Amino acid sequence: MIQLEDAIRRILEQIPRLGLERLTILQAQRRVLGEDIIAPRNIPPWDNSAMDGYAVRWTDVQKASPEKPVVLKVLSDLPAGRIYKGRVGPGEAVRIMTGAPMPRGTDTVVQVEDTEKAKDAVRIFAGPGKGKNIRRAGEDVKAGERVMVKGTVLGPAHIGMLASFQRSFVSVYQQPRVAILATGDELLEIDESWAGGKIVNSNSYSLAAQVAACGGLPLQLGIAKDRMEDLLSKIQEGLIADLLLTSGGVSMGDYDLVKEMLKKLGKINFWKVAMRPGQPLAFGIISGKPLFGLPGNPVSSMVSFEQFVRPSILKMSGHQNLFRPTLKAELREDIEKKTGLVHFVRCRLYREREKICASPTGEQGSGILSSMVKAHGLIVIPKELKVVRAGEVVSVILLDPTFLHTPLPSYLSFAGAG
Ligand code: AMP
Ligand code: MG
Repeated sequence: MIQLEDAIRRILEQIPRLGLERLTILQAQRRVLGEDIIAPRNIPPWDNSAMDGYAVRWTDVQKASPEKPVVLKVLSDLPAGRIYKGRVGPGEAVRIMTGAPMPRGTDTVVQVEDTEKAKDAVRIFAGPGKGKNIRRAGEDVKAGERVMVKGTVLGPAHIGMLASFQRSFVSVYQQPRVAILATGDELLEIDESWAGGKIVNSNSYSLAAQVAACGGLPLQLGIAKDRMEDLLSKIQEGLIADLLLTSGGVSMGDYDLVKEMLKKLGKINFWKVAMRPGQPLAFGIISGKPLFGLPGNPVSSMVSFEQFVRPSILKMSGHQNLFRPTLKAELREDIEKKTGLVHFVRCRLYREREKICASPTGEQGSGILSSMVKAHGLIVIPKELKVVRAGEVVSVILLDPTFLHTPLPSYLSFAGAG
């Protein structure tokens, strides 16, 4: 028996990060940045007006008031995107639009609401503070500043910032290709005609979806019969991927050949991990590619994926933080178990006023896939505990944060959004 954290540590030690590739910035969404991003220039590049109004010399307007307006000669109309070539002298102003660069000689913008247009001139009714209504060069980003570091997960704001630097392409970590092989003579493909005694191969689908959900590229190898030649040839096909998954055939059983096959392929560890579900696990490296032999039971396969494969895929993809968030929740039902194994209890989560509550999703057998369907999280019950009572606070691995979404947040008051 190996402890959960030993298994995770030993696995992650052997998982490499993948290389980098260049993508368009939109393709790079949700990917991990493979380079530091240094600002090539100031943003904004020059002092510019934060308002529609008049660019003026503060000394001209400091005493302006509604009773004693100051009259300035208007030299030009300056839209955003144009530069005023001349220089503004005493008694002069330029009509300026938001975003237009400040003309030479000016130091302040009077907003249009405090002015009145006169023929070739403007009456100013109020003098703002010196330097008001200007966005300063470099106030957002300074030239040479390191704006993003290698390892940042790219989202819409990062992509917008890259665009503002005129970066069309960016370097990111490659996405791991993950080959998935189901094993078992009893398995039926999704589109095969229904037959007595058979079990539909659902693991290949839940696993492929888990791979995709954490940023990997699933590659379906189909089903291998419980025969050495079939297993070996399908695994060989999988070696084009960066990582391989098999499901089934790692427990004790007459037809469990996966173990034997893996032994032929190289040095593979066979562990009984002190967890439930998902005790049996094979892990090793074949032809330089990590391989996980996951258990066949549908819930075990998914929970083992969560514990071992997801952090591995995230590491390969360049992520720094490999684990899901956990949160504290108030347990709503007693849970009893034997000591010795960490239990992952599928639970529904819900908010009651400011509190988060967790209720187990019914029957917790490793074949009960509906317990996962209903789950927002996995309650982690430490191995040494025998019982946790309703009302106690438990730690929950957050699988699905959508339970926190709301039809209407408290800062909006209209009657529902649909
Ligand atoms: P095994 O680990 O191969 O003994 O499988 C344990 C249980 O999981 C058996 O009831 C299998 O039928 C079931 N099982 C194995 N592989 C799959 C699969 N790909 N999809 C759904 N159930 C499976
Ligand atoms: Mg089997």
